[in-house]
Amino acid sequence: MENKVVLVTGAAQGIGFATARAFAKAGAAVVLADWDKELVDKAAELLKTEGCKVLALACDVSDDAQVKTMVDKTVETFGKLDAAFNNAGVQNVLADAADQTMEDFNRVIGVNLRGVWSCMKYELQQMRKQGYGAIVNCSSIGGILGGPQRGTYHGAKHGVIGLTKSAALEYAPLGIRINSICPGIIHTPMVDKMMAGGQQDILDAMIEAVPAKRLGKPEEIADAVLWLCSDMASLVVGHTLVVDGGYSIQ
Ligand code: ADP
Repeated sequence: MENKVVLVTGAAQGIGFATARAFAKAGAAVVLADWDKELVDKAAELLKTEGCKVLALACDVSDDAQVKTMVDKTVETFGKLDAAFNNAGVQNVLADAADQTMEDFNRVIGVNLRGVWSCMKYELQQMRKQGYGAIVNCSSIGGILGGPQRGTYHGAKHGVIGLTKSAALEYAPLGIRINSICPGIIHTPMVDKMMAGGQQDILDAMIEAVPAKRLGKPEEIADAVLWLCSDMASLVVGHTLVVDGGYSIQ
């Protein structure tokens, strides 16, 4: 990743942060974008102390104008965009389909689906000028499975795969590869919250359902994203890469 410029959204914590760190450790200049300005500044400061070349940007991916500015600033600062990981995401409020609210639907779709759409749009405008690039969109095992009370989240994540495959077809002839990744159950701050909130039994049941019998590490998703963006994956186009310890094959 030496001399590469990489943009990661939702980079303040969890999978996004682990991926930003992995790219930076591999030699890339990395833009960490997140709507939580304070947290993303802290994340970038930490990577700077580790000798990484990084820039923190505040961006709400559900706001198209902010996304355009984020991509513009990336290119202004580092001159190009080699790869992007469109990862920012939120969970829906748990509710059966009859009880889900329009407000929550719009919020989740706005970040998880429209956010990815906006990010790809402006990243691709830059990448088609350059004639190269790689994009990974963060779907989820929720993008290939159903999930009771999680219809909005799963709907958005299914949509991410559709956006990915369609754009992959359009841009493969230009040498721009677009893929999606489906993380399984990963040990992120949300899991820590579940543990702290007395939901250890729910967590144990989730782990039991994973053939690998453990939670994934954010670093294991980061490695897969790095691979998808690298020349080692030069023929991988429009793929949905599931990284879930076997959860979804049962
Ligand atoms: P995970 O790592 O499991 O995907 P997290 O909740 O740990 O989930 O990380 C998601 C990241 O995305 C957080 O840092 C969060 O602040 C960020 N994020 C959520 N919504 C937005 C948004 N609209 N714009 C930018 N970043 C967002």
